[in-house]
Amino acid sequence: MADLKAEAVIPFENIGSYLEQILASLAAHSLMLRPDGDGYIITSSFGGTAWLHASDTDLRLKVEAENPASFNRFKHALTSLVDFVARGENLTIDWQGDSPGAALPPDLHTLNVHTVRDVTPFIRRIAFEGSGLGAFDVPDQLHCRLLFPQKEAGTPEWPRLGDNGRLIWPDAGTLASRIYTIRRIDPVADVLEVDFFMHGGTGPGVQWAAGARKGDVAGILGPAAHGPKPAAWYLLAGDETGLPGIARILEDLPASAEGIALIETSDTGEKQDIDGPPGIEIRWLYRDGAAPGSTRLLADAARDIALPVPYDDIFLWLGTEYATFRELRLYWRKELGVPAARMVTYSHWRRGMSEDDIAEAGAQAVTA
Ligand SMILES: Cc1cc2nc3c(=O)[nH]c(=O)nc-3n(C[C@H](O)[C@H](O)[C@H](O)COP(=O)(O)OP(=O)(O)OC[C@H]3O[C@@H](n4cnc5c(N)ncnc54)[C@H](O)[C@@H]3O)c2cc1C
Repeated sequence: MADLKAEAVIPFENIGSYLEQILASLAAHSLMLRPDGDGYIITSSFGGTAWLHASDTDLRLKVEAENPASFNRFKHALTSLVDFVARGENLTIDWQGDSPGAALPPDLHTLNVHTVRDVTPFIRRIAFEGSGLGAFDVPDQLHCRLLFPQKEAGTPEWPRLGDNGRLIWPDAGTLASRIYTIRRIDPVADVLEVDFFMHGGTGPGVQWAAGARKGDVAGILGPAAHGPKPAAWYLLAGDETGLPGIARILEDLPASAEGIALIETSDTGEKQDIDGPPGIEIRWLYRDGAAPGSTRLLADAARDIALPVPYDDIFLWLGTEYATFRELRLYWRKELGVPAARMVTYSHWRRGMSEDDIAEAGAQAVTA
């Protein structure tokens, strides 16, 4: 029996234009959806159950859970994803029901920097130690959100999940957060590694990595997102931000896997040894002086590849700057007709926009 219950009825006349994207976004964040009457029942790996029902005029969300941690996390997952996808609609998401009070996110873990090593001139690998990091060892959930407390602010204050389904952030300026890929994880040693692209910008992620020293504290939330699926042939493509995901996928694929990996970096000094299946050819693409996100290198190289038919036995993975992401996703989906279930594509960053700018703009800033 669920002890905690809450419901939100969100006036939402345009729900029809957003529903598909909302469902896809929920599915990419550790939530399992199945049709239930004329709505959906949603379950999660962290407990609790939710229901989603869309009518012509509103979107109804209901959550039930046995403990406050699952309850708040479920409310947050639904609130933040619906709000991000439909940012332009200025929705009012008002939960009615039980209010157990603000609590730390149940998936929050504290990390300490263990080692810092420059794998190449532009890729800094930071190994973090913590406890219970096995929770992040999920082969098809490669991504995490790292929290960077300001060193001068003393003991870190972490965000909390409020009764309204929103994250309550500590005082402005004391904590930043960015999304990264877990490049490698050792659940026995409780160590995980993240490869930071030192892109030369002024964002809090790259700046934190630039100043990271042994013992520094960070927080981690997650894991999330979709990973690879079994296929007869693979195309994995990305820039420096996609490289950690591509490398992790290649290292995990069976030795018999076939396909092509396209990796765009600045120059030959960025080439890394990757231990992938021999049947997957790795092609390195070099910008040779051009700025990241300013060329057609990756888009053209990917378009030049004739995808083997039938498309329902291939798998495409993409993690790169928005313009290339948008072009390739539309090309594969709309021009070639590759089924959505055979691809996982991400806009990892957008030229001229920080992650905060993207959060402010909503999902339309990073969708095709
Ligand atoms: C699912 C996912 C997985 C990711 N995995 C990784 C990963 O493993 N390693 C990694 O390094 N990044 C990864 N990223 C990308 C990373 O989150 C962004 O690059 C993020 O913007 C970095 O934050 P920042 O604070 O350094 O810069 P921000 O404050 O977000 O941006 C500041 C400025 O820097 C520019 N900028 C941001 N990223 C880049 C870039 N790559 N190249 C050039 N300019 C840039 C922005 O356009 C902006 O003008 C991932 C993103 C996603 C969504």
